[in-house]
Amino acid sequence: MSQDSQLSPGDVLRREEPSHALYLHIPFCATKCTYCAFNTYTQMEAIIPSFVKALCLELRILSQARPGLPIHTVYFGGGTPSLLTASQLHAILDQIASGYKVQPDAEITLEANPNDLDEGYTKELRALGFQRISLGMQSAQEKELRLFARRHGNAHLLRAVSAIRQAGIHNFNLDLIFGIPHQSLPDWQESLQQAIHLNPTHLSLYALSLEPGTPMREWVMSGQLPLPDEANTVAMYEWATDRLNAEGYQQYEISNWCRPSYESRHNLQYWRNLPYLACGPGAHGWANGVRYQNLLSPREYIDRLRQTVSIDFPLTPVVAEHETVDRKTQLAETLMMGLRLTQEGIPLHQLQQRFDVDLLQEKKAVIQRFCETGFLEITAGALRLTREGRFVSNAILRDLI
Ligand code: SF4
Repeated sequence: MSQDSQLSPGDVLRREEPSHALYLHIPFCATKCTYCAFNTYTQMEAIIPSFVKALCLELRILSQARPGLPIHTVYFGGGTPSLLTASQLHAILDQIASGYKVQPDAEITLEANPNDLDEGYTKELRALGFQRISLGMQSAQEKELRLFARRHGNAHLLRAVSAIRQAGIHNFNLDLIFGIPHQSLPDWQESLQQAIHLNPTHLSLYALSLEPGTPMREWVMSGQLPLPDEANTVAMYEWATDRLNAEGYQQYEISNWCRPSYESRHNLQYWRNLPYLACGPGAHGWANGVRYQNLLSPREYIDRLRQTVSIDFPLTPVVAEHETVDRKTQLAETLMMGLRLTQEGIPLHQLQQRFDVDLLQEKKAVIQRFCETGFLEITAGALRLTREGRFVSNAILRDLI
């Protein structure tokens, strides 16, 4: 008798279910940063206990529709997940453990504001199973932190990193922003140097984006604040790329660097265009061939999640919008996301298996042209952007898709 014939139909179904990432959106912040357009709210601390119950219910509804769904990453993002108490995080993790098949080596990350991580709380996080922390450092310049209306200063960041280490968590990320009004290249270099000095396993560097509805955009648009010109912002990025490379960090995505084998497994799932569940107000998910977005308002979210209901997976009562994604769009999205992966790129063999498409044949002329101009390369069976190609990725994608 073969091994397969000993499996029940349920076992076979579970075995074939692809592993998912799980994102949880915690939409609360103590204060609002001046550049932030995320779905997050201040002065709503009073409803956090009801929100945690609602989030657990959303998790339960999803898991009842797909019992034992394999999960290999859990990411608490926001907002400020570190506003939740250890017992609230415990309740959420318990709900996940009871409804999903969480892999023993699953990556479990908490986004945190440096203010919130004292020694006691960070030890509790470790005991709960968090082995990765993502800290919103943003800058080492106090004047820039003030411009952003961040709650923390450098002293908080140092205390947070020390607490993380003391708790025995060695895997942590620092987020930084460049291209800030009045920021000079030396200002940026000093911020990045200070970040490197803290020896994180991972760094995410983002150019400041002027999002509609934010004070930062209004100040720049009305001329109250200047932006560094594009050449200066490119120089900051180029300098960071060289510096981090010299420090032994690997760039594996356009905006992300890590120590060897410390890639964010959760974010890799997005960039590989593989399925992820997303829970919480405003969260975006991609599962069962469907992209969906939850409604934005935390109060409405809580109101709609009062009881368990059966659903057409993954469409819970808090989904506001959804669309079934056809294969052609999935392919285009896979190319778009894959080109962000600066080392892995788009593995052509995998692409053929997944979409039954021979990209080298179908886009021969385009690929040849960009390879000849030095913007694309094919190495180890993968199509990748070169360093120069990262600055013209939109044009490449347009022609490729
Ligand atoms: S802490 Fe993060 S999510 Fe909250 S307002 Fe600031 S940038 Fe936005």
